[in-house]
Amino acid sequence: MAELDKTQREVGVPGDWTYASAPESRDIVHIEDRYGYFVGGKWLEPSETYETIAPRDEEPLAAIGQATAEDVGRAVAAAREAYADGWSSLPGSERAKYLFRIARLLQERSREFAVLESLNGGKPIKESRDVDIPLAAAHFFYYAGWADKLEYAFPNRRPRPVGVAGQIIPWNFPLLMLAWKVAPALACGNTVVLKPAETTPLTALLFCDVLRQAELPPGVVNIVTGDGRTGAAIVESEDVDKIAFTGSTEVGKEIQRRLAGSGKRLTLELGGKAANIVFDDAALDQAVEGIVNGIYFNQGHVCCAGSRLFVQESIYEPLVAKLERRLTTLRVGDPLDKNTDVGAINSAAQLEKIQELVASGKEEGAEIFQPPCVLPEKGYWFAPTVFTNVAQSYRIAQEEIFGPVLSVLTFRTPEEALEKANNTPYGLSAGVWTEKGSRILWMAQRLRAGVVWANTYNRFDPGSPFGGYKESGFGREGGRHGLEPYLRFDE
Ligand code: NDP
Repeated sequence: MAELDKTQREVGVPGDWTYASAPESRDIVHIEDRYGYFVGGKWLEPSETYETIAPRDEEPLAAIGQATAEDVGRAVAAAREAYADGWSSLPGSERAKYLFRIARLLQERSREFAVLESLNGGKPIKESRDVDIPLAAAHFFYYAGWADKLEYAFPNRRPRPVGVAGQIIPWNFPLLMLAWKVAPALACGNTVVLKPAETTPLTALLFCDVLRQAELPPGVVNIVTGDGRTGAAIVESEDVDKIAFTGSTEVGKEIQRRLAGSGKRLTLELGGKAANIVFDDAALDQAVEGIVNGIYFNQGHVCCAGSRLFVQESIYEPLVAKLERRLTTLRVGDPLDKNTDVGAINSAAQLEKIQELVASGKEEGAEIFQPPCVLPEKGYWFAPTVFTNVAQSYRIAQEEIFGPVLSVLTFRTPEEALEKANNTPYGLSAGVWTEKGSRILWMAQRLRAGVVWANTYNRFDPGSPFGGYKESGFGREGGRHGLEPYLRFDE
């Protein structure tokens, strides 16, 4: 065969496949120098403030009010007044109009919210843009739809609102957790006092402007900022009828202790240590994508993160090899860069916690793999990490790390996988990877987890209830179930 003349065939194939940076502009966001509390539709001046920063480079962003018990008292009084003054007796179809407006406004201002969320929290812009903000809007749309149908959701039970809801949310999905809490509360005719996490208050404060645009009656939603002391003041407030909390199991237990005997309602969405279980008949490349999404999405700051990977022994080696190879393609860096897969760790305290647990994993004898990646000098960063050779007793296999750290364990039979997966004080979520539908159902019926994903991971929909077993908490958010904690019934 004649030899091809290749000399004239130069094509422009680059030798270097490094991504050029694609930064999202932050010009769309306006951040005030100083924020007060949003109470009764007005801004109250704080007596004390702290600084909120951008975790990507520790840039100070704004001074935020540290609400005292008196400030919380004012917010609760405003919520009570709004409740009694008409909101609780407004026809459901009228309440729905406000919720629809809020949903539409969140969609219209989605880019602004996404940039602010990534700036203040450190999560990649593609996640806040494609997941957090669209899902937050979807929650308001979804619960707007229920507002005038509560009688049909709970036939013959005369659903009525509970009163004033105190809502305390964490820093991992700031606007989305706000939506999970505020949308069902309002749909059911309650009013709200909400506290965002200390490190991520900015999207909750921008949300107040959406409430103004939506012309929500004053006092229906009140936002107070501050650290755990502000949260504790909400919990202890006499005139709050219900507490909804998402955060650590430790604080959740403390809240439950404080509320015991008070007659206040409580729902808790707490930590997790989810098992992501891969059987030998699973589509391995898809499973690897699911594993990566399960633990590196949002830097692993996810209560339902698939942080314990259980791999059937016969596929252990090829799966781990594929996984480690895939890790080398993850792009760690600026949260505002549209190419970024893994952003900044939310705070110095969280970074320290991750480092401490990773050190314990090494000391206890696990083998660590981290892809080569250059981490920025300023800010809080941690490379995606996989631990192999992990025993069930190691801290990294038992404790919630809440960072981009995966512990890999093995099993031989479905029974063994199940026993190991359920061997945890938590029970929020799980994943099963297999091509057999019957095995999926067998596992799902026996896994002690509120959500079981099959051949996928971290899928959310407002119509689907979410919540835990055991130390992962109680009560459900999302779906028709998510209405119940905000309703009283005549049984
Ligand atoms: P926390 O449970 O402390 O925070 C959750 C929310 O509760 C925040 O708004 C917090 O305020 C508030 N809070 C803190 N103390 C009290 C209190 N005594 N009474 C009422 N409210 C309070 O979680 P952290 O942010 O400290 O994170 C610690 C660990 O918790 C993480 O490493 C992670 O393992 C886990 N976590 C789990 C989450 C989940 O979704 N399951 C979410 C967040 C964390 P403030 O922000 O000011 O402290």
